Amino acid sequence: MSSNVDISSVAKNWRLDGLQYPSPSDVVNEVFASDVLTMEELRQRLSKPVWKSLVATIDRGATLDAAIADTVAMAMKTWAMERGATHYTHWFQPLTGLTAEKHESFVTPTSDGSAISQFSGKELIQGEPDASSFPSGGLRATFEARGYTAWDPTSPAFIMRHSNGATLCIPTAFASWTGEALDNKTPLLRSMEGLNAAAKNALQLFGETESQRVISTVGAEQEYFLIDEEFHYRRPDLVMCGRTLFGAQPPKGQELEDHYFGSIPDRILTYMTDAEHQLYALGIPIKTRHNEVAPGQFEVAPIFEQSNIAADHQQLVMQVLRNTARKYGLVCLMHEKPFAGVNGSGKHVNWSMSTDTGNNLLEPGDTPQDNMQFLFFCAAIIRALDLHQDLVRTTVASASNDHRLGANEAPPAIMSMFLGDQLTEIFERIVSGKGGSSKKAGLLGLGTEVLPKLPQHAGDRNRTSPFAFTGNKFEFRAVGSSQSVSFAITVLNLIAAESIDAMSAMIAARMKKKQSFESALTDVIKEVYKKHSRIIFNGDGYSDDWHSEATKRGLLNLATSVSAIESLVSKKNTELFASHGVLSARELEARQEVMFDQYFKTVNIEGETTEWIAQTQILPAVLRHLREVSSMASVSSAIQETSQELVQATDELIAALKQLRQQNAELGGETVHEKSHHMLNNVVPAMNKVRVAADTLERITAHDHWPLPSYRELLFVK
Ligand code: ADP
Ligand code: MG
Repeated sequence: MSSNVDISSVAKNWRLDGLQYPSPSDVVNEVFASDVLTMEELRQRLSKPVWKSLVATIDRGATLDAAIADTVAMAMKTWAMERGATHYTHWFQPLTGLTAEKHESFVTPTSDGSAISQFSGKELIQGEPDASSFPSGGLRATFEARGYTAWDPTSPAFIMRHSNGATLCIPTAFASWTGEALDNKTPLLRSMEGLNAAAKNALQLFGETESQRVISTVGAEQEYFLIDEEFHYRRPDLVMCGRTLFGAQPPKGQELEDHYFGSIPDRILTYMTDAEHQLYALGIPIKTRHNEVAPGQFEVAPIFEQSNIAADHQQLVMQVLRNTARKYGLVCLMHEKPFAGVNGSGKHVNWSMSTDTGNNLLEPGDTPQDNMQFLFFCAAIIRALDLHQDLVRTTVASASNDHRLGANEAPPAIMSMFLGDQLTEIFERIVSGKGGSSKKAGLLGLGTEVLPKLPQHAGDRNRTSPFAFTGNKFEFRAVGSSQSVSFAITVLNLIAAESIDAMSAMIAARMKKKQSFESALTDVIKEVYKKHSRIIFNGDGYSDDWHSEATKRGLLNLATSVSAIESLVSKKNTELFASHGVLSARELEARQEVMFDQYFKTVNIEGETTEWIAQTQILPAVLRHLREVSSMASVSSAIQETSQELVQATDELIAALKQLRQQNAELGGETVHEKSHHMLNNVVPAMNKVRVAADTLERITAHDHWPLPSYRELLFVK
């Protein structure tokens, strides 16, 4: 029996009749952050002394006094219940890369048959989810199996709504009883501290003492696919793995370039408006939306925020996009490569550093003084990326992202930096010491004039670089669409901190020898640029020439996630994480363990699903078709030939399937490391062979026998 869907019935599902969606008259200003318990809102609900003591404890990072915690909890509960919340949850980010929540009701039944609402300070501050099933990479031996969640007062509580209710979500960190981080948030917060210390110290060298804090800022652009749910549930590969494991190329792909920035179909736009409306209520500043390159592919981007808040918000963006799609009969695919042959999805993480006074440290300024500061921080990032290519690569390592990085699309796995011709030239001039009209050059003897305004617009864009300077920030484009951005940001903060510290120390050492600050600064920028400029590449990152050039330059090309994950716990990296207090050696090892674990499990599930579908759906369908054709083989020699072609392709499928079954039956060893290698070296190739054979058959088998909706249907029925 074919499970082809009647396309006309699918098309009918695309009607919006009867849907409740936000009306344009809901003014964004009124909606924005209406479901967020902002500090201001909280202040209004607390007495002055309680508020003061709350702020003091937040600033000192200390635990709240129990009596005060009770009062704060009461205020939070009241606020949440006024908005229809019946439950609360500690909301955290375990190492799965997703978010986790366990809802508790505010309401407790009493012995007299009524009920009272309760939420104590203790429940606010600390939770104890039954956490033994979250990955810990061995950090949590069974005797200490319980992890605990701890309130993160730096990220505001918010309300998540569903069709008939609402839940108060309290952002928390998640740790083991021995104090080790079991989540993605704790190291991110620690890395922000490290960056703050390093950058503030450097700013003092420049005589900047005004700002109290330096934060990293992040704006993450999210790409995703939308497909009709009728098709989705007829594709076990999409349901199990989030990507198609089979599918012949349709006659038309993305080559006409008719989708990118095209007008957005009404149903999709209504969906986007609905999702954005919910995101506004959560205080998430969504700014842009458009069609992406592949058919059925879209993108949203927010305005940037402080990076830990941006990381929380990014998780919510994914969650709301996924949940809302279902209301419209759609499924939102966040996988990095749901369809072979058309572009995959990424997440461009725009990253910069800013003072609390709003001064973007990667913004070239108008005065020589500002510019030197800019060049200092920019050089620090050049140095950081060159020294830590391996680490930056590892932050985006996953089985699903392997289909983008190192494959022939998206940024390559070589972590080079695009700086743009103008800025590159300015650095080159500093190094050569020649720069234009050196006499009147006010720029601290550098021989360069005040930096020209660097172009920030499309003309200067290089879309093939994994790490591009885009005028006043870096855009890290290798991040996968389904990934948590937390680890990537953690590492960017960490390597920036290390590099800024190192350069500040180099300057300080020179000044000790009586060199002036200006001349020490110039020397250090020169030295750093000379040593690390090999990481800069302004050309086409997809070209073969670049790959051989990069090899000549000695740049790393960790083409597979397995090789990247391997490099995570090198001596250099272990020391780096430990010295900046971001992750201890044990915590780092645990992360590597979890990454391998996730890699091998992901591929293992794909291998099993490929076998299952090929064996129980595709092969039987092909055999039915073959029976029909071969029963008529005597009619003509052409039909005889057709039948033989089918027989041959079917034999190939059966042979490939046999190999895959053998590989699936093994795990390759005891450790997650060995298992990952088995998946990479044996299961992935065997899976690919089955797919090639099946895709060939899809093109010669009767459509009404084929058991899976085709790419033609998945991607083009709108
Ligand atoms: P572009 O023209 O370079 O695409 P946009 O202003 O549209 O610039 O920004 C693209 C993304 O970069 C947005 O998500 C935006 O919030 C983010 N972004 C802009 N400035 C910064 C910054 N200083 N730090 C982090 N992200 C930023
Ligand atoms: Mg972009």
